[in-house]
Amino acid sequence: MPKRVQSPSSINTFKQCPRKYFYQYILKYPTKENIHCVRGNIVHEALEKFFDISVDSLESETYKKVLSSHLKDQFDGAWKKASKRLQRVGLPEDKLTFYYLDSTQMLANWLNYFFDGIEKGVSEGLDLQAAFKKIAPFEIERQYKDPELMVRGFIDVIHKDGDTITLVDYKTSKADEWKKEYILQLGIYAVLYEKEHGKYPEKVALWLLKHGYRELGVTPKMVKDALFEIEQIHFATESDSIGDFRKKESGLCKWSTGQCDFYDICRRDR
Ligand code: SF4
Repeated sequence: MPKRVQSPSSINTFKQCPRKYFYQYILKYPTKENIHCVRGNIVHEALEKFFDISVDSLESETYKKVLSSHLKDQFDGAWKKASKRLQRVGLPEDKLTFYYLDSTQMLANWLNYFFDGIEKGVSEGLDLQAAFKKIAPFEIERQYKDPELMVRGFIDVIHKDGDTITLVDYKTSKADEWKKEYILQLGIYAVLYEKEHGKYPEKVALWLLKHGYRELGVTPKMVKDALFEIEQIHFATESDSIGDFRKKESGLCKWSTGQCDFYDICRRDR
């Protein structure tokens, strides 16, 4: 049995740079807070808590206002709760304001899409509450861990439409593209889902909060690639010796506004 539990993040870190994986996942050196990670966590929390609302009292004339205000409250609460982490990022006030406003815009994009879904349900004859429930997630923030594969993952949202299951991951990144690491991440989720439920999900999707909803059918190739990468990471990380984790130098070591969290240690080590 492999000795380390892996995740899509650890696998992607290894692929980016094995030495970085060694510092982060074997020596467990702390990583620095960065705004993209903190902001991503805040937005995820707001979207998760959005669905705590009781929909029974929603009315067609006012539901958009009520839901907009509810989502904004969740976001503001999560932003406030993360204030110490935001401070540790060390950005000037105007930059933090930029990220605050940028995040509210992302949530507004998502909510407009959600409203379109409600209206579609209503136009098909559902009442408001049923239309809301039809497009609300089946599950939120579900953790999967397979003891045989030694892999775990947190799936942001699972949608169920009849027999069709879609696994969704929220992204706050700028790019409007299916990056290879996103396909691998969702492929791993599909594998974990199958291990638990005995069937693969039909689809995986990215909610690119800056751009919109993008989905793909789960294919045998996606599953095969995910299983291959899982096997590879276990094989490549059996060792505890730094010499077995090569440095993969790239533009991600140092760039104009920052550097890898382990840059200084890495320069020192052979
Ligand atoms: S500084 Fe570069 S080579 Fe060193 S751990 Fe970071 S990414 Fe890898």
